[in-house]
Amino acid sequence: MSFRDDLAAASEWAATYLETVGERPVASVLAPGEVAARLPAAAPERGEPFSAMLADLDEIIVPGLTHWNHPRFLAYFANTGSEPGILAELLVATLNVNAMSWGTSPAATELEQVTLDWLAQLLGLPSGLHGHIEDTASTSTLAALAAARELRPGGAVYASEHAHFSVEKAARILGLEFRAVPVDDDLRMRTDFSLDDATAVVATVGTTSFAAVDPVEVLAERCEAAGVWLHVDAAYAGAAAVCPEFRACLAGVERADSIVVNPHKWLFTPMDCSALWTRRPDMLRAAFAAHGDYLAATDGAIDLRDHGPALGRRFRALKLWFVLRWYGREGLQALIREHIRLAALFEEWVAADPDWEVSAPRQFSLVAFRHRRADNDEIARRATATGSVFVATTKLRGESVLRLAIGNGQTQQADVERAWNVLRECAQ
Ligand code: PLP
Repeated sequence: MSFRDDLAAASEWAATYLETVGERPVASVLAPGEVAARLPAAAPERGEPFSAMLADLDEIIVPGLTHWNHPRFLAYFANTGSEPGILAELLVATLNVNAMSWGTSPAATELEQVTLDWLAQLLGLPSGLHGHIEDTASTSTLAALAAARELRPGGAVYASEHAHFSVEKAARILGLEFRAVPVDDDLRMRTDFSLDDATAVVATVGTTSFAAVDPVEVLAERCEAAGVWLHVDAAYAGAAAVCPEFRACLAGVERADSIVVNPHKWLFTPMDCSALWTRRPDMLRAAFAAHGDYLAATDGAIDLRDHGPALGRRFRALKLWFVLRWYGREGLQALIREHIRLAALFEEWVAADPDWEVSAPRQFSLVAFRHRRADNDEIARRATATGSVFVATTKLRGESVLRLAIGNGQTQQADVERAWNVLRECAQ
């Protein structure tokens, strides 16, 4: 078999998967070790044909997967491996360039900068920000806080008690103390804490559990006055800003020092792709620039390896570029609006049923809700075990609540209706 034949088989596999993924059980219910037990203990002595790998993919691996690209994946923050993203990933692996420096592949660096400028414009971010791509929001936040530490070493990092744990993890890695700030009744980070010993404040636009939006404007004002770095974690909800009517969630961001938005969450880009912008790239460089005798810099060029922890950098800009061109502003807006419409509809159904209640005001495409009497963790477990939906719970003031997060490009109203029916049946 030639590479062309294998390529045709792989593309057939991918197209069929996307057409039929909605018929598969969404979440894997295997026990730990079940997949490993079906795999040989050592690599083969002689090379095998691609067809053997595809066969094992179908028989052993896929049954053990949770299908993130499934239209009824409604847990965590649902995401999308979209067609342009899939095609780009094939080409990225084919090219296999390393975007560590401008000189190691000039177009990769320049495309990354142009694509992040495009995305900044689409989200209404201020012009003139320096943008680059990291693998995940965890790394983007680590990079931002490392830059903050260059300005004010040795202090504490303040973030909402509902901030993603990647903030605390980054602080720990950097030897900075993490201090959780309580939230108000609307689940927004309070602003009345002292900044005397602060290295940085992280405001979340779209917290992981409830998609609450911290008061960025007030925090920006205070951070500016105190000379403290403000990082905005808009990993999920920042995407909503492609629609002017939802852009208010980013108010105040123009005064932040850095902001992260994950195209691999709600911008239809396959894992992994996290966009980090800053108005202080000099501080990123202070934190990360390192000299290797074997790796000459080019005058007048930017080396993106100087802006984050990794040296080797995948050509992620290609997939983001494809995604932005494939959908265009209108296509992205249409999907985001539809997801928010579906979440609002679901919220109405919950509010209208006396057995259920909406636990926190719906934000964007995320609804937090609970059955008034039944065990909500058990409902999530049972619903997920049916194979037809995947939902998860979180805690609100110590109590379990269900979360329904819409973010997959294939999710339709019929999928959300089915999820609601399954949840009600499982509550019986
Ligand atoms: N920030 C927020 C608000 C999140 O919800 C998440 C993950 O869901 C993260 C950061 C971490 O994202 P990543 O997996 O890209 O590190």
